[in-house]
Amino acid sequence: MRQDVWSKRTWEASPEELQARKDAAEAAKPTVNTPEQAKELERQALEKNPVTKLSHEQAEELEAKILGTNDKKDSVDTSSEVVARQLNEWESQNYSNDSEKGLLIMPDGTVKDFAGTDHHVTGKEDDIALMNGAVFTHNHPTDNTFSQNDIVTGLVKGNLKEMRAVTSTGDIHILRNNDASVIDRRKFAADYSQMRMKAENIANKKILRGEHIDKDEYVKGRLEKFMEEHANEYNLSYTKSHINEISIDKSIQSGILESNGNRINIGMQFFSKSIEDFATIILPKDEYAHVMSEIATNITEEQSTKRVIKKHIGDYIYTVENKGFGNYRVIGKDLIE
Ligand SMILES: [Zn+2]
Repeated sequence: MRQDVWSKRTWEASPEELQARKDAAEAAKPTVNTPEQAKELERQALEKNPVTKLSHEQAEELEAKILGTNDKKDSVDTSSEVVARQLNEWESQNYSNDSEKGLLIMPDGTVKDFAGTDHHVTGKEDDIALMNGAVFTHNHPTDNTFSQNDIVTGLVKGNLKEMRAVTSTGDIHILRNNDASVIDRRKFAADYSQMRMKAENIANKKILRGEHIDKDEYVKGRLEKFMEEHANEYNLSYTKSHINEISIDKSIQSGILESNGNRINIGMQFFSKSIEDFATIILPKDEYAHVMSEIATNITEEQSTKRVIKKHIGDYIYTVENKGFGNYRVIGKDLIE
């Protein structure tokens, strides 16, 4: 069963998720009052709380109250190479998990694992408090972008510096918090939820009209576009990345790298490099032609799906990057002993 790291839920929206969406929708509801009603509401609101627009300081104070702390914590330096490496390693090893897992990197360097089976972990106040200024990554067993729970728990309540979701296809969705106030974050959660509902409605209508669309794919596309175009209006930024194809194997000491389960020995000098960093090996013209024709005629269906393939030809093992559509690049040549 697939579970969300935020709460116990199957692939269907949990009661918490539904409530989060409802709350967000409520908060974002357009006003349809008559001018008289609007005036009366305004009068009531002013009576209750004469401050209608919070200053930056007031927003911070409110935020501190919500978070139960007044200390403004440091945040993780997201440009740090150590952090990047930790994230890269975790994401490339966990993107294909069947259940959700997560990794939290805190400003003091402490790292905490979250497993989908610990379904209540992030719902606890203690865990939410740990998120302030931290970086959180987690995997989605689907290809979907951030859920409403991700946004509400991680961003609004948690005040993460950066939230990341790596999908089953290896896409990494990154939402960065550029000191957004709690007001900004709440507004974003409300608008994000609105956008999701709108997209779901449109997708449903399209399906009813007989259009062949993938609803999840459609909703994801709309949410991505919304984040790309509007995240900055909430002092957030959204980017998308992709896992490094080559992940560092546990037995790195032996110089063995693993690519999609295909073990290849290409030496220690490639440690933590991505495939693009591997130098092309220039072969003499005839040898090159021979290698290419051997690959073209003998490649197995399984190999054709791999990013890196290994081929025995004559006395050598050639390591080749498979760039797809019949494009190959030789990145290794080792004599068979
Ligand atoms: Zn998520």
